[in-house]
Amino acid sequence: CRRPHPPQREPESALPVSKSIFQKIIDREIPAKLAHEDDLCIAIHDISPQAPVHVLVIPKKLIPRVNEATAADQATLGHLLLTAAALAKKLGVAETGYRLVINNGRDGGESVPHLHVHLLGQRPLAWPPG
Ligand code: 5GP
Repeated sequence: CRRPHPPQREPESALPVSKSIFQKIIDREIPAKLAHEDDLCIAIHDISPQAPVHVLVIPKKLIPRVNEATAADQATLGHLLLTAAALAKKLGVAETGYRLVINNGRDGGESVPHLHVHLLGQRPLAWPPG
């Protein structure tokens, strides 16, 4: 028989209750290979790289995903892209090309609920993505 009140799923927009892995990295509670740090963001090398260059650019402010970003985050969001472009130059992939990816939500492939921009490069990247 069907239950009259199925258990409620936590809405995707809910703020995470526990610290994400990226917040722990920002707070220096767990180590990561740092590619860049400034007042607004850090960039780390991905622990499971999907390309020879695979860096994550992460805002220090907890924005769970781009869905939850607001107009107040505009400067931070722009800074993430400019930082990714600067890192692409620094890491030697600006000339050959690279891809920036933001996974949002379940179908987008998001696994860490703290906004991050993937910078992938140094190999040809197929399109469309899987
Ligand atoms: P998402 O799937 O949320 O877009 O991306 C999360 C990324 O974080 C994945 O590419 C994953 O490999 C990476 N990642 C997960 N845990 C860690 C960690 O502890 N350290 C680092 N450097 N990367 C991580």
